[in-house]
Amino acid sequence: MDIEPSSHTEGSERVGFQRRLWMLRLNLVAGVIGFGILILSVHGIWNERQEAWERAQRASRNLLTTLARDLGSHLRSVDVALIRITRGLRYQGFTSLPPEVQHGILFDQAGSASIARTILLLNASGDLVADGGPLLAPRGLNVSDADFFKIHKERSFAGLFLSHPYESQIKLGTLSIALSRRLSKPDGEFAGVAVAEIALSDIYERFQNLNIGPGGSITLFRDDGTILMRLPYDREDIGRKLSDTANFQRFREKDSGSFEGIAAIDRIRRLYTFSRVDDLSLILTVSLSVDEILAPWWRRTMVLAVITGVLCAAVMRLMFLFRRELGRRTRAEKALERLSAMDPLTGLPNRRTLDKILRRELQQAIRSGSPLSLLFVDVDCFKGYNDEYGHAKGDDVLRAVADAIDAPSQRSGGIAARYGGEEFIVVLPEIGQTDAGVVAQTIRKAVAGLGIEHRRSAFNIVTVSIGAATASPAREDDAIRLLKAADAALYEAKAAGRNRVFGPGGENGASAT
Ligand code: GH3
Ligand code: MG
Ligand code: MG
Repeated sequence: MDIEPSSHTEGSERVGFQRRLWMLRLNLVAGVIGFGILILSVHGIWNERQEAWERAQRASRNLLTTLARDLGSHLRSVDVALIRITRGLRYQGFTSLPPEVQHGILFDQAGSASIARTILLLNASGDLVADGGPLLAPRGLNVSDADFFKIHKERSFAGLFLSHPYESQIKLGTLSIALSRRLSKPDGEFAGVAVAEIALSDIYERFQNLNIGPGGSITLFRDDGTILMRLPYDREDIGRKLSDTANFQRFREKDSGSFEGIAAIDRIRRLYTFSRVDDLSLILTVSLSVDEILAPWWRRTMVLAVITGVLCAAVMRLMFLFRRELGRRTRAEKALERLSAMDPLTGLPNRRTLDKILRRELQQAIRSGSPLSLLFVDVDCFKGYNDEYGHAKGDDVLRAVADAIDAPSQRSGGIAARYGGEEFIVVLPEIGQTDAGVVAQTIRKAVAGLGIEHRRSAFNIVTVSIGAATASPAREDDAIRLLKAADAALYEAKAAGRNRVFGPGGENGASAT
């Protein structure tokens, strides 16, 4: 028996629609919650990253400023000593004074004793003629090919010159840089060079104690890109020229600034902060490893990501459980509804469903102006059957009879239902009086054809009597009228001897055969 869900499950359809609406709303709310959690997390994470970045920028800027100031003032004081000496030597007759007097005048003026000791005087040929150490005979040293000498010999306007790194010949090969100024005779002719040697280890000591993390680096450049000192220290780096690297190009663009870049030396991504040292031709950079700057932030982000993930998963899980429960409930209700529409014994639609079918088919018949027929089928002498064979056997007979009624009904486009007890109704849409009689005869013969023994029947087998009624065309109040008419015809069929079909016009077709 086929029941169209569109009408039999009208109620469940509406419920289903409302359920779907609910699910939609719920999905929406869950989506908004999930999205909200995500937005908040991302926003918080982003802010924290910015803060970590700004903190690192501030810290390296402070470090850089302090370091540049310290280095600048040291080198400046060395230069002040050089300037004093170049001025002192300009006095007429200075060179005619005894050497120890010259020494006293020159190097007492040099400022601090430690600076004085690093100062050398070279004559116009590059020979060492005096130094700030204890007065000794000049050592016969010639540095005429050193850059800090040649520049002043070639140019009178070089001012303060800062040399490339070299191994000092007077300090046993110590890596040094030199600050040098030209010595001029009163008429401006080249007289030699005053040089202050600064051991790079001095600069290293200034860098060494600063905390820049294992991935950080501090570098002092000559402004032609030559590395004078770098932390972490590697002898190989000193004197390397990085003038072509992208980072160095950026150092030269401005007096100071900061940016993110990858180091040419060790390929580590760093936050660079750079500044010129005083107005000397030096560039100092402090750079911190980006990974190290962001490491604590990453740890917090991971924790937050896990929490966010867990929250979202919980919302999703809740949604899933709710959905499953709702689905389960909907399925159970549908099953229940299906069950309540059926007669459990025969599997045919029950009386409740029959009412709906009848109403629906009547509406359809009114709309299309077509006829609608009804058959009232009743098993003959069934009380006697139960008495003779037992109630259980009676049930078996009802099932068999139901099948025998259902098959021909379906073939003719009709629907069979159990009306109650041993009574069945067949609704035949678009079937007129004559055809209804034909279908009824087919059903009657099908039941008799089962050949079920029935000793208490005059026919010795189980038979049915059928009353038929037709509405043509159908009207609103025809449902009850049809039932009554079919019932009346059935009564006549019974009265006429059973196992026959009666319609409005009396007995219909062959019977009792
Ligand atoms: P008639 O030919 O005039 O219809 O006689 P009848 O005995 O069939 O009519 P009656 O209405 O007196 O008896 C109907 C009987 O059908 C009564 C009841 O025992 C039986 N019956 C009704 N429902 C069931 C059922 O579900 N199972 C069984 N086994 N018997 C049923
Ligand atoms: Mg009956
Ligand atoms: Mg009966």
